[in-house]
Amino acid sequence: MTSPDPSPAGDSAMSTHTPVMQQYLRIKAEFPDMLLFYRMGDFYELFYEDARRAARLLDITLTARGQSAGATIPMAGVPYHAAEGYLARLVRQGESVAICEQIGDPRTAKGPVERRVVRVVTPGTLTDEALLEARRENLIAAVCRGGGAIGLAWLELSAGRFCVAEFAGEDDLANELERLRPAELLVEEGAAGAATQAGMQSVKQRPPWHFEVDAARRTLCAQFGTRDLAGFGCEDLMQAVRAAGCLLQYVKDTQRTALPHVERISTEQLDDALLMDAATRRNLELDSSLAGRSSATLAGVLDHCVTAMGSRLLRRWLQRPLRDQALLNRRYQALEALQAQPPTAIGESLQAIGDLERILARVAMRSARPRDLAQLRLALQLLPGIRTGLAAYDSPLLATLAGRLAEQVAERSLLERALVAEPPMLVRDGGVIAAGFDPQLDELRDIAENADRYLVGLEQRERERTGLPSLKVGYNRVHGFYIELSRAQAASAPPEYIRRQTLKGAERYITPELQDFEGKVLSARERALAREKELYEQLLDQLLAVLAPLQAMAGALAEADVLVNLANRARELGYCRPELTTEPVFSVRAGRHPVVEQVLDGPFIANDLVLDAGRRLLVITGPNMGGKSTYMRQAALIAILAHIGSFVPAAAARIGPLDRIFTRIGAADDLAGGRSTFMVEMTETANILNNATAQSLVLMDEVGRGTSTFDGLSLAWAAAHYIGERIGSFTLFATHYFELTALAGELPGCANLHLDATSHGERLIFMHAVKEGPANQSYGLQVAALAGVPGTVISRARSYLAELERQTREHRQPRPQAELDLRPVPVAEPLREALAQLDPDRMSPREALDALYHLKKL
Ligand code: ADP
Repeated sequence: MTSPDPSPAGDSAMSTHTPVMQQYLRIKAEFPDMLLFYRMGDFYELFYEDARRAARLLDITLTARGQSAGATIPMAGVPYHAAEGYLARLVRQGESVAICEQIGDPRTAKGPVERRVVRVVTPGTLTDEALLEARRENLIAAVCRGGGAIGLAWLELSAGRFCVAEFAGEDDLANELERLRPAELLVEEGAAGAATQAGMQSVKQRPPWHFEVDAARRTLCAQFGTRDLAGFGCEDLMQAVRAAGCLLQYVKDTQRTALPHVERISTEQLDDALLMDAATRRNLELDSSLAGRSSATLAGVLDHCVTAMGSRLLRRWLQRPLRDQALLNRRYQALEALQAQPPTAIGESLQAIGDLERILARVAMRSARPRDLAQLRLALQLLPGIRTGLAAYDSPLLATLAGRLAEQVAERSLLERALVAEPPMLVRDGGVIAAGFDPQLDELRDIAENADRYLVGLEQRERERTGLPSLKVGYNRVHGFYIELSRAQAASAPPEYIRRQTLKGAERYITPELQDFEGKVLSARERALAREKELYEQLLDQLLAVLAPLQAMAGALAEADVLVNLANRARELGYCRPELTTEPVFSVRAGRHPVVEQVLDGPFIANDLVLDAGRRLLVITGPNMGGKSTYMRQAALIAILAHIGSFVPAAAARIGPLDRIFTRIGAADDLAGGRSTFMVEMTETANILNNATAQSLVLMDEVGRGTSTFDGLSLAWAAAHYIGERIGSFTLFATHYFELTALAGELPGCANLHLDATSHGERLIFMHAVKEGPANQSYGLQVAALAGVPGTVISRARSYLAELERQTREHRQPRPQAELDLRPVPVAEPLREALAQLDPDRMSPREALDALYHLKKL
């Protein structure tokens, strides 16, 4: 298996291959970077390198299929009826697959039967229900750089949602990619910056001419049926247009079908949204938790949507909170109305409707199955009830949604007449179109289905006519229909009986009438099936004519589902309506962390938060495990909930304009990216210092922890000072450097908060209550005592600690100033290291002992 795999181009030995292999190699040459599933009877087979790769990825056997051009052909195969499962596994691993079917009729073909690639499955262009995750979007995106700008286009093919945006910097792009998490990304071959996306699973290089701007415009205008792109707000966004053009062409090439459901493109502006960078999204665990538990995320707590399309919409909202206060107030108002009168009936109807959005995409791409249409029929039947229900509420937003639920009377009646009550999985096997819908189909079915009755009648008639009581009519696969006579009576067979088969005790005959009948029955079956397929295609055509209003309807139903869900969850979880204002304020009374309060065994302690023009920077101290991170994160989550139009976990909340949320939380090593904890920490800090504004909400947890004590303290101090003095963001700054509590005396708008713990006999009890002022105790040694560190060690540690505190107080004069002060601290190196390590607030008993041991050696 060491010789190189054959290729048809330039392979003078092509003619030495078997005819089938020649055909294979020709088709494979069109799909060099995909796996080719080549249909052979009941199997899809893969050859050469494809076979080796598939065998590895799918853990299937690699064997050989004979020889071609004098060498063995490596082969791996999967049964065609189980192909969907294998496809799903391959796309999940980022692979694309071209599916090549037998098109010709093997009985009539000379040489290999004709084959053609009918479908290309790529990770970002899935629409098949079996391959998609119901409650998550599956996106394909394209990036294009040039002229100092970066264009991004993305498409959710299974819904027809197509968007573009343009950015000035790589950071903005990285943030958007983190939000969207496309399953497949197209980048320009050889372009600078493309390497940044190398970490993503499925990145496809496209040649530069696929990004050509005029071609892109033409492709897009042809798709949308417009003269230019002005109506979509992206006429002047050249990079975005180039990216969109490449993306659309790629999708058309792979899908090999029209995409009528992709009927517009929307331009997203960064300014419309409450922005979050990639690290913040991860840290806040909106949709996926750092520990990998999806229930312990904001989406996990909030999402009880009854439709999958509602769940996807809610996730989109959470990933992109909006700043438009008028819109948010309309949503709040809708929730209030829904809470006043819980919409039980609407909820039940929505649940029955299911995933209309994806069904419509399959209708548009003509891959809808009979059950999809039955589901659509049900949706249209339930629609009037939902519409009346929504319109009855005193809410302009719900009224607008009701207005988008146009009753498709004609289509509903069409589906009711055309489809049987419970259609089978596939059109292929027939039985989809209802009786009475099409006279021609009825007649063909009649012939096929009434064959039995006819044969019984025929037997009766022939017995009477011939007077032969042993006469029977039967059927076998080889000879078809026959008349059978016993050997004794065979001599009296009428002359028009033609002998077909002689058995031991009987003779079998056919007659012209029977032959005629046989032809009719068999062809009637085939023709009925063909007619059904034709009618099914016509049905799709008729639905396509009203695709746009149907899509609007699906969108409105998804939104109604989300609003009903938010209203229900707010009631169940005790959330309140926030008050939005134009003043600079972020104040929360009795706020809770929406996720922690759900996973906690005991009661959650609610806490207030006050940030306003005169109080912008809060320095938070307190023992490890005291609740600092929880308190900070809950502030961000409350802000996000308010900005998707949800109620919030608090007794009251007043929120002024916010533009971005920044977080510097957690200190996971970015080992894959080759950056140390400290480097990650400083990169995130630099990002905040460079980009935060007075309208940003900034959460900084333990900045400076990744380095030695003095460096860390200086950096934390300088960063807090810079934010407090120069930027003026609403900032929560949690720290174990007690020295930072002095900032409150130096900076206007800065105050101290702390979280307390008290010791109760043997136990240390965390109060989790936020109080004004700095913390006044250090609990590290107490924790060590509770953990079983011997009393003598603890009391030694206590006296060392007192000594250390005295020494550090001396060394830390004067305090570092606003610019980073990284001058070496005048202290003997070993002592310096030991000092850096001894950090009683945060260290484990084991670490404390190690540090003490080092000190003792000095
Ligand atoms: P810190 O950041 O101060 O080390 P955390 O915020 O991580 O502390 O909180 C530690 C644990 O304390 C949390 O996992 C949670 O179980 C509990 N906790 C935090 N805040 C509260 C609260 N307000 N009410 C009840 N339990 C809380």
